[in-house]
Amino acid sequence: MEKRGKLRGFINSFWYCGKLSWKAAPFYTLLQLLFKSVQAILPVAVVWLTKEILNCLMNHDKRSGGMLQGLFCLLLLVYILQAVSRHVINYLDGMQRDVIIHYIESIIAQKAAAMDVEYYDNPKYYDIFENVKRNSHVMAGVIDNCMMCIGFAVSVISCICFLKEVLPFYAALIMIATIPVAVSQHRYTRKIYRWGLEHTTSERRKGYLYGVLTERSYAQTVRLFGIGDYFTEKYELLWKKLFEKKRNIIRKKLVWNLLFSIMPEIILICATVSISRNVLAGKNTIGDFSLCLGLIAQLTGVLHGLVSAVMNVYENNLKVEYFMSFDRFRLNKIVSGNKMLETPVKIEFQNVSFQYPGTREYVLKNISFCLEPCKKLCIVGENGSGKSTLLKLLLRFYEVSEGTVYLNDLPIKEYDVNSLRTAFSCFFQNSPNFAFTIKENIRLGEYDMPAEDCDERERHALRLAGADGFVDRLSHKENTYITKIYEEDGMELSGGQSQKVALARMFYKRASVLLLDEPTAALDPKGEHELFESLKRECSGQSVIFISHRLSNVFLADEIMVLENGKICAQGKHEELLRSCMLYKQLYDYQADKYL
Ligand code: ADP
Repeated sequence: MEKRGKLRGFINSFWYCGKLSWKAAPFYTLLQLLFKSVQAILPVAVVWLTKEILNCLMNHDKRSGGMLQGLFCLLLLVYILQAVSRHVINYLDGMQRDVIIHYIESIIAQKAAAMDVEYYDNPKYYDIFENVKRNSHVMAGVIDNCMMCIGFAVSVISCICFLKEVLPFYAALIMIATIPVAVSQHRYTRKIYRWGLEHTTSERRKGYLYGVLTERSYAQTVRLFGIGDYFTEKYELLWKKLFEKKRNIIRKKLVWNLLFSIMPEIILICATVSISRNVLAGKNTIGDFSLCLGLIAQLTGVLHGLVSAVMNVYENNLKVEYFMSFDRFRLNKIVSGNKMLETPVKIEFQNVSFQYPGTREYVLKNISFCLEPCKKLCIVGENGSGKSTLLKLLLRFYEVSEGTVYLNDLPIKEYDVNSLRTAFSCFFQNSPNFAFTIKENIRLGEYDMPAEDCDERERHALRLAGADGFVDRLSHKENTYITKIYEEDGMELSGGQSQKVALARMFYKRASVLLLDEPTAALDPKGEHELFESLKRECSGQSVIFISHRLSNVFLADEIMVLENGKICAQGKHEELLRSCMLYKQLYDYQADKYL
């Protein structure tokens, strides 16, 4: 029953790969199939032609001369075909491989981009992705292996057709002798693959340690703290542990394969003795002798090749099954509604509580507040009090656990997720910039903006973010690449400059609500002051929710919300809160004292 299940799985994978190959590269797939089949028959043709030539040479009759010429011509043709098909197959292999890998990587990238943010919170999902990413190159080989199987099978059948006339017993024996090798290969292929699956997390950890030692972002910290050796040691230890476990399995596989692979060789020598006796007894010709030896050697080789190719397909089959399940795997718990969000936007939280998926603690508890359109809300609170989480709920990166978020008096779930996110423009802590020019970085804020609006909007965004000054001083201005990794005349931005570019991207997008999470963390006091002045002066038509530890900026807000351990501890205007909220007064005094 289980065997039937495995066979069905194998056929499904085979079929799936065929379809994948056909979708990715139909032309190359067809040609590969054709040339590999032709290539499989040619060695048998050589052996048969050699037999005929030998028989002609032994006969010495009148017809032999003409026949010999014909046979030599045929042999030449076969040799030429062998050479041509070898080169064509090499070419097709390379092309098909590239196209298929690209096709698979596109599928993975598109899928990753469509996943919910929750994917990044769970090591299980990383493992799934890591496995398919790592195996995408192997996947490309599966089609090749399938075709090799077909080619070897054609060779085996043609060898047996000839051999069964002369040495049927030995032909059967060689076939039987291959079974133990196949079983052992199958067993250990499976073991090694399972081992790989079980150790994906450790492999990822090893990759991470290697990354710390080699990647630019860690370079300064590693040198500053002198922790290169510490990481190297950790990396080496993990590698050794993984390698030793894997080596044990591979060694056992080697021992069994060595034992079993001797059997076909013994049968080969027995067959040689047997046909030699037949020749001496006059039962067979010298041509038959050559044919038998050639075919038996050929059969032993192709059977070995067939077992390897089948095992390769089998190993790939397991990976293909994994890829198939990945293809079916969706992490889209966020179900989109179909209403379009109109602007301006009224935001309301009613008794909202939230736990991150897979955790028990409530990060937000019973949050209720309302922000009328075009009003400004400042959220303050200690680290970990749930401020950023609140913004993530608003963008539907996660579903609330309890309560409801309303936008324009309708539950947030009723809105189309894309239309919802279009209404918001955000700056998050550590918002990344991309390895492009400043211009591209900013325009990615709304990359489908009509071309006639782009220039003006870009200048506006640069000014609001306070980035226009330093950008204008650059020799290539906004066309400057903000990395040296790919462009020699690119530049590395300072932390503050980089933050300003990310802020400009946020301002570039024509959104109804701006969400700013610690927007001034890397800015100097002047930059910080200018940013809040811009927000006040130029964003009167937009709602703004900003998280800030610098309480000197709260003057911008119509309302201040103080969060403590996920609960609203107080809400109101600055003066009110100074009087009524101990935590707020403390936070304010810590900073005010310094200035005084
Ligand atoms: P704040 O912005 O106020 O500093 P956050 O909203 O980022 O705080 O985090 C609130 C709490 O939620 C913290 O205890 C943090 O550890 C936890 N947290 C944040 N992100 C996740 C996550 N993806 N999974 C689990 N817990 C998280």
